[in-house]
Amino acid sequence: MLTCSKGRMDDKIKTFSKFGDTGRGGITRFSLSPEALAARDEFCRRCRALGMTIVTDDMANIYATIPGEPGKPAILMGSHADSVKQGGNYDGILGVLTALEAAETIVTEKIPHAHPVTVVIWTNEEGARFEPAMMSSGVITGKFDKAAMLASVAKDTGDITFGEALDASGYKGQEANRLNPAKALGLLELHIEQGPVLEAEGRDIGVVEGVCGMVNYEFTFLGQADHAGTTPMKYRKDALYAAVKTIQYLHDELDKLDPRLVYTTGKISCHPNIHTVIPDEVRFTLDVRHQDPAVMEQAVAIIKALPAEVAGCAASFTPAWTRKTVAFHTKLVGMVEQASEELGYSSLRMYSGPGHDAQFIADLVPAAMIFVPSVHGHSHCEKEYTPVEQCWQGANVLLHTVLQLDRAGAL
Ligand SMILES: [Zn+2]
Repeated sequence: MLTCSKGRMDDKIKTFSKFGDTGRGGITRFSLSPEALAARDEFCRRCRALGMTIVTDDMANIYATIPGEPGKPAILMGSHADSVKQGGNYDGILGVLTALEAAETIVTEKIPHAHPVTVVIWTNEEGARFEPAMMSSGVITGKFDKAAMLASVAKDTGDITFGEALDASGYKGQEANRLNPAKALGLLELHIEQGPVLEAEGRDIGVVEGVCGMVNYEFTFLGQADHAGTTPMKYRKDALYAAVKTIQYLHDELDKLDPRLVYTTGKISCHPNIHTVIPDEVRFTLDVRHQDPAVMEQAVAIIKALPAEVAGCAASFTPAWTRKTVAFHTKLVGMVEQASEELGYSSLRMYSGPGHDAQFIADLVPAAMIFVPSVHGHSHCEKEYTPVEQCWQGANVLLHTVLQLDRAGAL
C-alpha cells in the first residue's frame, strides 16, 4: 500500500519544532505571535512549492488546496499550529504536518483524486493568550460572537486585543473565504491522544467517535473565621473541612458510576488562607466528563443531591458551564477504522476528553478524528512526545481515509 514518507515526516516535525523552541524540548507558540507567524510562513512556503492555492478567512484560518475536478466539494484535513505556554511539539501542529505530508504524497506520487484536498490551520485553538479556546473554528461555526472575540485582550501583557493582533498578522483575509459547507465533503483532524490509553492498550491508532460532554460546577462553603488556638473543635465552622468532606463524598459517589467517567477538582481557593485562622470561605471546581449523556445526568444528580449544610457550613454550588457530547459522522469514522485496518495497524474506538476544532466543524461538515499515541500520556508540557514512526502511521491513515472518501464521493 502506498504510504507517506517517514523521512519527510521527521523533517516536518523537526523544522516546526524550531518556531518557539524553549530549548528544553518544547515550544511556546501563542497564536499570532512572531513564532506562530514564522510557522505559518513556513507552512505556506511549503504549500506553494507543492502548487497549492492558499486563502485565509477573516479569522486568519488558512486553507491550502490541491485542486480537484471542477465543481467537486473539497476534502479538508488539518488542526491548529499554536501552543500553550511551554507546550509540546505535537499538540495541534501534528494534525497540520500529517495533513501537509498526506497532501505532499498526493502531489509527488501523482495520486489521482476527483475532489480538491485542502489543508487547514485553525487560528487560536489553545486560547493561551487570547481567550477562549477554539476561538476561530468557534466564530465560523457561530458558537462565538466575532466582535467579542476581536475584543479579547492578551492575558499576559494586557496591551493588545485579538483583533489588533489579527490586523497586524498579515493573515487576515475575507469572510467569503470561510469554510463553505456546500463546498466541503468532509473534514478530518489528526491529533495526539493527550492521554495514556492507546499506549497502555498497545494500539497504533485511535478511531475517534466523538468528543465527551462535560459539566463544570463551582462549589462554595461559608463558615466562620476564628482563632486557630482558642476555638475548640466542636465550636468551629471550618469551611475547608466542609469542602474536603464534600470532595471526598463526590469522589466516592462518582466512582460508583461508569468507569469511563472522569472528574477533577483542579481549582480551589481558601479564605483568608492564613495558617492561624480557621477558613471562612472555600471554593472549588468540579469538571466532569463522559461520552454518554445518561451517565452525565447521573453525575449531575449526585451533585444536585448534596446537602445545603456540611460540617456546620453553608454549602452551595452553581453550574459554570457545560458542553454537550459531539458524535462524529459514523460513516467517516468507519472509513478511518477501515484505512487503519488496511494499513495493518491496530486501532481502538474511543471518545476524546479534550475539546478540538473538529467538534465545532462537525456542526457544518461531516467530521472525524484520528488519534496517535502520546508517550506516557503527557501533553500540554515539554515532555509531550510521539515517535516519528507513529506520527507517520497517523499520516498514512489520514491519507488513506482521504482517498477512501474521494472514491466514495459522498457520505
Ligand atoms: Zn490541540
